[in-house]
Amino acid sequence: MKGVGPARGQTLKDEAGVFTLFDLLNYFPFRYIDKTKINRISEIKQMDENHQLKGRITTFKEIKQKRGKRLEAIFDDGTGQLKLVWFKGVNWVAQFINTRDQYLIYGRPSFFNGQLNIAHPEMEKVTHQEAPTSNKLQPVYHSGEKLSNRGLNSKGIEKLCQQALRDAGNNLVEILPDYLIERFGLPNRQKAYRDIHFPQNTNDLKKAKWRLKFEEFLYLQLKLGRQKKLAKRHFKGLVFPEVGDVFNTFYGKHLPFDLTNAQKKVLKEIRKDLKSGYQMNRLMQGDVGSGKTIVALFCMLLAKDNFYQSCLMAPTEILAIQHFNTLLEYLKDMDVKLALLTGSSKAAERRAIDEGLRSGDIDIIVGTHALLEDKVVFKNLGFAVIDEQHRFGVAQRAKLWKKNANPPHILVMTATPIPRTLAMTVYGDLDVSVIDELPPGRKKISTSHRFEKARLQVFDFLEKEIEKGRQAYIVYPLIEESETLDYKDLMDGFEAISRRFPKPKYQISIVHGQMKPEAKDFEMQRFVKGETQIMVATTVIEVGVNVPNASIMVIESAERFGLSQLHQLRGRVGRGAEQSYCILMSSYKLSQDAQVRMETMVRTNDGFEISEVDLQLRGPGDIMGTQQSGIPELRIGNLLEDQDILKEARNAAIDLLDKDPELAKDEHQMVLNHFNLLKQRNKDWSVVA
Ligand code: ADP
Ligand code: MG
Repeated sequence: MKGVGPARGQTLKDEAGVFTLFDLLNYFPFRYIDKTKINRISEIKQMDENHQLKGRITTFKEIKQKRGKRLEAIFDDGTGQLKLVWFKGVNWVAQFINTRDQYLIYGRPSFFNGQLNIAHPEMEKVTHQEAPTSNKLQPVYHSGEKLSNRGLNSKGIEKLCQQALRDAGNNLVEILPDYLIERFGLPNRQKAYRDIHFPQNTNDLKKAKWRLKFEEFLYLQLKLGRQKKLAKRHFKGLVFPEVGDVFNTFYGKHLPFDLTNAQKKVLKEIRKDLKSGYQMNRLMQGDVGSGKTIVALFCMLLAKDNFYQSCLMAPTEILAIQHFNTLLEYLKDMDVKLALLTGSSKAAERRAIDEGLRSGDIDIIVGTHALLEDKVVFKNLGFAVIDEQHRFGVAQRAKLWKKNANPPHILVMTATPIPRTLAMTVYGDLDVSVIDELPPGRKKISTSHRFEKARLQVFDFLEKEIEKGRQAYIVYPLIEESETLDYKDLMDGFEAISRRFPKPKYQISIVHGQMKPEAKDFEMQRFVKGETQIMVATTVIEVGVNVPNASIMVIESAERFGLSQLHQLRGRVGRGAEQSYCILMSSYKLSQDAQVRMETMVRTNDGFEISEVDLQLRGPGDIMGTQQSGIPELRIGNLLEDQDILKEARNAAIDLLDKDPELAKDEHQMVLNHFNLLKQRNKDWSVVA
């Protein structure tokens, strides 16, 4: 490119990730200066808002401070004055300032020492020899010292973009089919690129952004949709045509309650998959207590009706045992053979189980990771349930696939609601069902936030509830880096609680990560049986534990927990008929985020709402965990802000693939081409990276 030599080229690569002309065209402005909208200093009322001002710098000086120096300048726009302050890049800014020039500045004013201040404003010299353009909106590009030193401040980048558009604009062939352009009234691709860099007006800009985001999401969804379809074509799905005796008998005679509409809806979605001839890979999301287990049970009964075995895999031994007992109870009057397999199953048991699985004698096996071992061989595994997705990776799911010649249907259950838009992009290979309704009669868990000074009252409250026959959890955080400290907190807490609730009147269980599994289980069982009234624990009890009589959850140092963890913990109570309580104990000093987390917990019990707040606070990457997050890198789309566009794009992609799964139609020729181009490019980039 003219004007870009080796040095500039290198800086563009290093600082902006720009390797090609196309990359440059995708280096979008992050905001636009509307030269028609200039504020006056005398009229500034809103503090926490960005303002654009035009004026001169009358004086400026460097001021020494403890470490380094700062730069202060007085900015005057004719209606008033304010102070500009820089703490970083002082020399660089000082060089650039000239009291003869006029500047456009942009930033957020605040009051400090009785004076209006803007720290680190964006600044641009107003030059009059600039070619008069009809553009009212001037693009502003991310730059920085290194780029600026190569003449690539925002203005410099703008010039490059202009040139790139002139040189390469015509190569931007259309990649959206006509009917989508028409349906959404979109600008064509060339116009969209022109308008996002150099919009004539805000309306054009809006349309250009919408189109580019839509385009990005569409191809992402096409990729996910194609993957899913490929997987389906690759494997022949087991067909479960029959709703037979086992299912019907349980439904008609033994189900102790009516299914909620949400449970019925999800069951229907699953049944449709089981008849389709495709292998099901489905994620079932439902808040804690929404009744996922029973839905899974119905599926496993359906498998039996069709002469297949099933398994239910849980992340911990405690949970596996609990699931096993729950299923035993549900099925006590049914002729269904259940078994439990964990790491601590004894050798003799183990042999019987292996034998039962091979012969087909065992219908349903509940267990932990132990189920994944190679020596676990089924006669005909047809349905696999995985509880609590977050502890299992994709690779482990794949291991289950291999347990049968034709892979079993897979149902993943998770009680950690994932914001819908994330589920759409991250679980591309899974279909998603949502149980969005709780069984009737559940009382909202009353949640409050208390500080240390209220501890005595909290304990008094516990005493009263225990008096009524209830049980309580008191949970301490456990963060790996400070395990010993946390352990001390837990033990100190345990002592204080033991003093306040002395034996023999009160019995207290304690469960933490440093205990042996048997000891944990023993303590857990004491609590489950009601022999202890209080369970003091670290977060090991987070997942799945079900003690309906426990109605109080006290969370210590609640500010140290993330939202989804808090919500999970709270879900341990509210499982019985009694009014339940969650008490968040925190220190006085709270970060702003921690404050929001506490407020959110107090305000709502809705897991989806909580997950949305969590997404806002932490961003998509942290929510899913970085390891296998599967969160796509986006050029322009934003999973937080552009949910509506994402939904449109997703629907469009699904439609498109339904109509033309191979992208073979004429009208989709360009889609196929671009699709392949992206695939190719991703490969190349991974090499570069
Ligand atoms: P999840 O696994 O989704 O957190 P569970 O399946 O453990 O929830 O169900 C929580 C409790 O609700 C269990 O005691 C279960 O028996 C009960 N339950 C499930 N479905 C219903 C329903 N439709 N009506 C009443 N109670 C239900
Ligand atoms: Mg559960």
